[in-house]
Amino acid sequence: MDALIEDLVAANRILAAERVVDAFGHVSARHPENAGCFLMSRARAPEIVGKSDIMEFTLDGEPVDARGRKTHLERFIHAALYEARPDIQSVVHNHSRSVIPFAITEEKLKPVAHSCASIGQEVPVWDAQDKFGDTELLVSDMPMGRDLARAVGDGKCVLMRGHGCTVAGNSIREAVYIAVYLEVNAELQWKAGRLGKTVFLTAGEIEKVNARLSQGKPGEGYETAWEYWCGRADVASSTDAKGPRLGF
Ligand SMILES: [Zn+2]
Repeated sequence: MDALIEDLVAANRILAAERVVDAFGHVSARHPENAGCFLMSRARAPEIVGKSDIMEFTLDGEPVDARGRKTHLERFIHAALYEARPDIQSVVHNHSRSVIPFAITEEKLKPVAHSCASIGQEVPVWDAQDKFGDTELLVSDMPMGRDLARAVGDGKCVLMRGHGCTVAGNSIREAVYIAVYLEVNAELQWKAGRLGKTVFLTAGEIEKVNARLSQGKPGEGYETAWEYWCGRADVASSTDAKGPRLGF
């Protein structure tokens, strides 16, 4: 449990250092001993999240013991994905800048490079407007969360029209990896599109890259990336809350 919380704090710091999240965005992990709960920070910017900020939530998105702490409004994204998919162990939600254009145009986000194969063959777009009409565009209750989870289907990513994206993984490391490379792919695909006709990875290539990644060999894939990102985010120095103490 301690190791998982440390990894969750590290994931917050990494996603901030890699500019996947800014003041907003969040990452969660399923509770290691109780599959009916998940762990996520209280509402604060990921870059300054520490171990003491991590809270427990049930799969209806409600905190187990809030103790006056403010929670992320969009915790229902996480709750609904854990409810719908027993295989999902970690969820990232963010508004990274290169991704959003693909959620508001006809252009489909598809892997253009080896390292981005884990985003899947074509990332679906969820539009809150389709079922809920005019909203604040935030996933603010379970019906919206469940509708989003349906759009994810059996994939790993979904774009959210006029808002951002959500990524799911079998581990914190996998979810962080996919979230980082979803942003990378969006930037590469956009740049390539300005130069000429883009050649995307084939379905067979995507399958082969992902099969290799899922084997999780030491020195390859998620672990190598995680170690590198921990260094860039200065995670090793401390996973305690950094920045000014706010008296919580
Ligand atoms: Zn959001």
